[in-house]
Parts: sequence; structure tokens; C-alpha cells
Amino acid sequence: MINKQLKLILVSTPIGYLGSGKGGGVEITIISLIKGLILLGHKIILIAPKGSKLPFESKLLEIRLIDGIDQPSWQHQKTSDPVLIPFNSVLPKLWEEVIDIANESDAVINFAYDWLPLWLTKIQAIKIFHLISMGAESLIMKEIISEIGQLFPSQLAFHTKIQSKDYSLKNEPIIVGNGFDMENYFFNKNENGPLGWAGRIAPEKGLEDAVKVANDLDEKLLVWGFIEDKEYASKIENIFKKEIVEWRGFLPTNQFQEQLGRCRALLNTPKWNEAYGNVIVEAMACGVPVIAYDLGGPGELIEDGFNGFLVKPNDIEGLIKATKLISEIKRKNCRDWFEIKATNKVFAERVENWLYKGLNKKNSDDLQD
Ligand code: UDP
Repeated sequence: MINKQLKLILVSTPIGYLGSGKGGGVEITIISLIKGLILLGHKIILIAPKGSKLPFESKLLEIRLIDGIDQPSWQHQKTSDPVLIPFNSVLPKLWEEVIDIANESDAVINFAYDWLPLWLTKIQAIKIFHLISMGAESLIMKEIISEIGQLFPSQLAFHTKIQSKDYSLKNEPIIVGNGFDMENYFFNKNENGPLGWAGRIAPEKGLEDAVKVANDLDEKLLVWGFIEDKEYASKIENIFKKEIVEWRGFLPTNQFQEQLGRCRALLNTPKWNEAYGNVIVEAMACGVPVIAYDLGGPGELIEDGFNGFLVKPNDIEGLIKATKLISEIKRKNCRDWFEIKATNKVFAERVENWLYKGLNKKNSDDLQD
């Protein structure tokens, strides 16, 4: 039974460098997991696109930066689109580096939601573990993830149960949730702040519904996030009065949490099967209750009436009603939920457990499961 200090290679998202915001929630997942795994005593080599930065250093951490063109993200392609690898793409280069040094490690963890690393799992002897960060957004991704789920079930993990249901898996899925560094988020007890919304500014995140709520309540909505789709952002500006939305930009975590913590509620209005919903937990870490559509991850993070409210997807009236009731939620409940379920420590322990179990399995065991 392997149960020791692990030498791990973590391979970052090829969508953008860490800190760019282009990688969405995956960026903070990687950063907090690295810190959590180091706290547990594991050694990490992070392979990431050039420009990536981590907010801490450690003797147990080495970073290798790789130059190349960003990979297009799957959430903005049509379901039947083929795999696309641009000229001089960073994705294959990240994996050439992995293959070069993999024999020095116990395991590789992949954070890319992309076809190549999943396919490599079939043809390489190295154990590649995949933390799947999205629901099934394309046929070919659904096919390869489902196939790896059949061949090597112990090497796949998901953030939530509902996310995993998008794929055809033969075993009970491994769910690791997500986690955030407790030291980075401060509890704010003020109950009377503004309404907030946070996330990538892109159609699948449904910002327009939250703006509608603020508009109907005659309030401002504070918005944080990376503007991924400029056309979509200006469409929102044109539909509603200019002064409703207060764009706060894409901020580093310390500033983001400080501003977010002043809100009386966070609205979360996804239009897709949200794999997890980092901003929900980050808000709760600051004591901010969340009102979210019950679509994907939010349904597993929000305990209706305890740390926020769940509303039927697309039900704007439901969001408004919940917003009016938000003072019924104790802000302390939100922080407590976070401390028990979603710190980077508990997240790293779940991931460690997943890795130990997977490393103790021979591929033939996986096939018999
Ligand atoms: N975020 C940030 N600064 C901001 C607004 C958002 O760093 O000003 C980060 C936030 O911490 C979260 C990510 O953006 O980790 C959005 O992740 P989420 O899981 O909510 O959605 P995704 O973009 O992955 O679909």
C-alpha cells in the first residue's frame, strides 16, 4: 500500500497562464490545491504556460514554464466541433515536458479540459489522473472522458456529482469538490451591502438575469470577472440603464474577496451545467449568502435556507423573492459551511486519498471493477 510523500507533476490549463483569468475557476483550483498538497508534505512540479505566477513559494515546489499559443476553450465551440490544436500550441508542449520528466514522479495530475492528455492516458505507461473541470460541452470530449472513465475509472475525478452525470461512467464517480485557502478570505459580518455577481463575462454564466434583478429592485449590481466575450458584455450594457452595472474588473483574490465580502448577497445565474461554481464558495468564505439557479454545482453547494437560496433556472421572479428574504440567512452559516466543506486542506486530503487509491490499483484492477 503506497501511503507516503508523493512526487507529483501538476499540469496546468492550456487556455491561458495562471493569473490571466482566461482559465476561469481552474486557475484558483490549481493554486489552492498546490498549497494544500504542500501542507500535506508532497513534492510538486507544476508545468504551466509561460507567464504563470503563484502567490507563494516553497522548497517543495518547482515551476516549469512553457511557451506557446493558448488553446481555444471548449465551452465556446459547437458540440460537434473537432479537436483543434493551433500552430505552436502550448498544449502538446506542456505534455512533451511531462513525458520527459514523468519517470521522476509518482503521478501526473491533469487540469486541462482537453482531448490530448486524456488520449495520452491510453497510450502512455505513466499514471495520469484527470480532474475534470466541466460538464460535457462537446461530443468528442464526452466520448474521450467516458472512455477513460470505462478504462481507468480510478484516474478520473469530478468536482460535483451532477457534473459527472454528463458522462457515461461504469463506476460510482470519484467526487473531490474544490477548495480555497482559508487565510485568503475574511469573514465580513455587514448584512447591509450591495448585490454582487462574479464570474467570467460570457453567455453561459447568465449575467443578464442578475442585472435584471438589480434593475427591477432599483439597485446597483457590482460585477467582478474576466471579460471573455466583449460583445456579450456590451449587449448587457445596451439592454439596461448604464448605472445599474458597476464593473469592478478582474481582481486578484485579496482585493476580490475584500470587495465581495461587503455584499449582502451574491447572485449566481448559470445557463449551463455549472461544474462547481468557485465564486459561490468564495462568497460564502467571506460570509456572503448566495442565491443561485439550481443548475449543476450550485445545487450541491447551497443548502437552501441555510447558506443561501436555490431558485429554479431562469426564474427571475424567484431570484427577486429570494433577494428580499436574504436577511433570514445567517452570514456565519456561510463561513461555517466553507470551513467544513471547502478549504484547500480538506480538498487536498480528498485529492490525496484519490491518488493513493488510484496508485495502489493496477490497470487490470480498474478494468475488473
Ligand atoms: N475571479 C477572480 N477575480 C475576480 C473575479 C473572479 O479571481 O475579480 C475568479 C474567482 O476566484 C473564480 C473564477 O474567477 O475562481 C471563476 O470561477 P467559476 O468557477 O465561478 O467559473 P468558471 O469561470 O470556471 O466557469
